[in-house]
This record gives sequence, C-alpha cells and structure tokens, in this order.
Amino acid sequence: MTQQPDTEPWAASRDASWYSRPNVHAATVLHMAGSPGYGGTMSRCGRSVLDHTNPWRPTDAPARLRCRSNGCRQAWPTPAS
Ligand SMILES: [Zn+2]
Repeated sequence: MTQQPDTEPWAASRDASWYSRPNVHAATVLHMAGSPGYGGTMSRCGRSVLDHTNPWRPTDAPARLRCRSNGCRQAWPTPAS
C-alpha cells in the first residue's frame, strides 16, 4: 500500500512496532533505506529493519537524527547548511 516509488531514496527510523508506544518520531535515529530483508527494508548500515510506514525525505532529516554508521553515513544527501 505504499506510494513510495522504489527509485526514490528515503529514510526512516527502525521498525518500532514492538514498542508499546508508537510515537517514535520524537527522539530517534533515522537511517537511509537499503535493501529488502528480514520482512522489511534494511537500513544502509545493516543494523535495523526500517519502519516504512513513516518515511522521511532524506533531505528533510535533521543532521542530529541521522545515523552516522558506516553505510548510512555515505548515503545521506549533503545538508542544506
Ligand atoms: Zn543506519
């Protein structure tokens, strides 16, 4: 049911469906989407399955929330400032 084109890069926090509270946009880490795997989409850094129901435009991701692990770090677009 996603309208996200496959060709468009996106970012998201890890899948938090197992959290008791779904409000995960406040304090979290955003990863760049990578390859499909483990029933979802793996982060570029390979650490997490991403929550594709709350995709971020990579250019909208605040620098302080960006995952800095190898893989994600190289995938982020250059910050505006
Ligand atoms: Zn990451």
